[in-house]
Amino acid sequence: MEPTITAYEYSYITQQVNALVSAYLSVNDKRMRRVVRDTTVENIASHLPADEPIAQDFLQQLQPDRLTREAAAKLLPTIEPLVVPFPSLSQKQLSKLFRKVKKLKQPEWAGVDLHELTYLGWNDGGSQKKYLVAPYQDRLIGIQGDMGPKTVKGVCAICQTIGNVSLFVSTTKKSGLGTFTRNGNYICRDSAQCNRQLIDPQPLADFLEIVRPKR
Ligand SMILES: [Zn+2]
Repeated sequence: MEPTITAYEYSYITQQVNALVSAYLSVNDKRMRRVVRDTTVENIASHLPADEPIAQDFLQQLQPDRLTREAAAKLLPTIEPLVVPFPSLSQKQLSKLFRKVKKLKQPEWAGVDLHELTYLGWNDGGSQKKYLVAPYQDRLIGIQGDMGPKTVKGVCAICQTIGNVSLFVSTTKKSGLGTFTRNGNYICRDSAQCNRQLIDPQPLADFLEIVRPKR
């Protein structure tokens, strides 16, 4: 089985299922629930491979008139084999992406679901840094920036969702004269959460265009 679903599509499917669960809980009219369900199934089906039994089973499970949160939480991982996982990177591979960082704090892989990641992001609270690894023009690039301890409510530049964001300041250019170009963007403090909210890859691409190191 060839995985064909991207992590951001998987996030979209997850959001659709969660919205359906909420609708089941709040909408009393049976016909209205059917309308919501049909729309949800249609939205999700367009992202799933039509000839895949796992995908067909998944859509079948959405058909009954009730779906509890617990059942949804169990159902969603059943399509993970169809999702292209983010590559699991060795310490050596990570060091290559952050050559200038002397003591690179490693991401906590144990708490990471690779099927949910469009990009990898982790914090080094001690040095108040955030590290990002993201696909850019068919390869992975590493971005580092300062991330202050302050958290505010705002829109994240990457996932475009309102949440707990912090100012991420990256240096993108050092001129020979010792001047810097510094960019500040508010992004989610919690990158795992950010990935779960990321359903459109374009804002991430735009963000990378701004913050990637330039020569
Ligand atoms: Zn975000």
